[in-house]
Amino acid sequence: MGEKDCLFCRIGRKEIPAKLVYEDPEIFAFEDINPQAPEHILICPRKHLVSLREAEAADAALLGRILLVGAQLAKERKRADFRTVFNNGPEVGQSVFHLHLHVLGGRAMGWPPG
Ligand code: 5GP
Ligand code: ZN
Repeated sequence: MGEKDCLFCRIGRKEIPAKLVYEDPEIFAFEDINPQAPEHILICPRKHLVSLREAEAADAALLGRILLVGAQLAKERKRADFRTVFNNGPEVGQSVFHLHLHVLGGRAMGWPPG
């Protein structure tokens, strides 16, 4: 599936509604439709990368910025403790094949994840 039909590319282009909480020329972030914690935000690059498996050295700054935006959003929402997760591939839970960082907070969490 390419950019045209990709769910998260379409959210980034505002063709599909979502609760956007941050956007800039490279990155957009929105609330997860099925939150797994009181705070559950997804942060995406506008560039259609399927997962970290497809990322290259040229994407290093973009990936770093995604992490920093995640930390900033958690801070703004007064979530001192928060979890950041990339699922890469269906076996470990990826269901939307456009790279996204989950930022979860607001409840106690166990480890290891299921
Ligand atoms: P994954 O399972 O790929 O790591 O995460 C995909 C996430 O996207 C899930 O947490 C799911 O709830 C969320 N999601 C799927 N479809 C939509 C949608 O249409 N809108 C929003 N806001 N989130 C979605
Ligand atoms: Zn996409």
